[in-house]
Amino acid sequence: MLGSSRSFSKALLDWYTVHRRDLPWRLPIGSSVESTVHPDPYHVLVSEAMLQQTQVATVIPYFHRFLEKFATIEALATADEQDVLRLWQGLGYYSRARNLRKAAMVVVEQFGGKLPNTVDELLKLPGVGRYTAGAIASIAFGTKAPIVDGNVVRVICRIDKITDDPREKAIVDLLWTRAEQILPSARIGDFNSALMELGATVCTPRNPQCLVCSVQRHCEAVAAGVQETIPPVKKVKVNPLEERWTFLVRAEGKFLVEQRPSTGRWAGMWQFVTVPAQENAEPADAVSSATGLRVNGLNEVGYITHALTHRRYAFTVFSCSAKSVKPVDGRVWVTLEEVDRLPLSKPQLKALEIAHAVVKK
Ligand code: SF4
Repeated sequence: MLGSSRSFSKALLDWYTVHRRDLPWRLPIGSSVESTVHPDPYHVLVSEAMLQQTQVATVIPYFHRFLEKFATIEALATADEQDVLRLWQGLGYYSRARNLRKAAMVVVEQFGGKLPNTVDELLKLPGVGRYTAGAIASIAFGTKAPIVDGNVVRVICRIDKITDDPREKAIVDLLWTRAEQILPSARIGDFNSALMELGATVCTPRNPQCLVCSVQRHCEAVAAGVQETIPPVKKVKVNPLEERWTFLVRAEGKFLVEQRPSTGRWAGMWQFVTVPAQENAEPADAVSSATGLRVNGLNEVGYITHALTHRRYAFTVFSCSAKSVKPVDGRVWVTLEEVDRLPLSKPQLKALEIAHAVVKK
């Protein structure tokens, strides 16, 4: 086992200094590698929220747009939640956006607008768990705090030749212990970033590039030729499918939309009238019973699928027309241009595209 080898951290940090990716939430390439220089903590907070469950390449344009609109933590703390959701639109996992705004409010109210630099205090912020607290503390402040994410799990398991399933509680605990033991005495943030970067770009799940890996001589898995089998592959589980009907109800050039409840999936976002698909009912009856409107010309115009970590959704999209923009409890009639400005989930963005196509016909 590697222990807390200094030559390991030196090799990793030397590699990172030369090969790291140039990302907007990091210090520019060529910046000082002194351990007293750190990126803006607010930028680290925003990037860490966006990077959960999301690829770096997807996050970059969102990060730029978000910072353009909310340049400071104070600006985010006073933002309207709908504006924050609108900027998050398409990134998914919208509770991250709501928590990020709430975290900004706590930082302004309880920490004088400055993010705290300890893991214990960071853990008090909404949406900040052990990984994110460690990432912000180490990357934005140089605090000696470990981090364990999917990339770090893979790298440490291979370096230490841990063949057990890293999803088991005992192995999770072991990995956090190891992540702490291998921290160097300086450049903690760079070291943690380097571990993640190595996992993302060199020590990849399949075909790790061991021949060019800067820490190859420390790696027990490659010495034993078992790197491809570590960590063991997760058994594939089929997620349950939830079927929905989405209705593009149109009258007088407007469409009927509704806001989702303030808790649960896509909380507070907007959608065209959507109901659970009903096996023994006709879609026309379902939309009438949901809205109290009599609709005509109901046509199936699209089918949208959407997969989340534990669930899959399928939306059958229907277009239909109502006689007039009669008020409907809990729903509003709006133009498609107005729908464009509302925060929408990914499937509802696709429904919006279908609505635009229906109007053009
Ligand atoms: Fe990963 Fe191979 Fe490097 Fe070991 S030598 S850390 S398996 S890339």
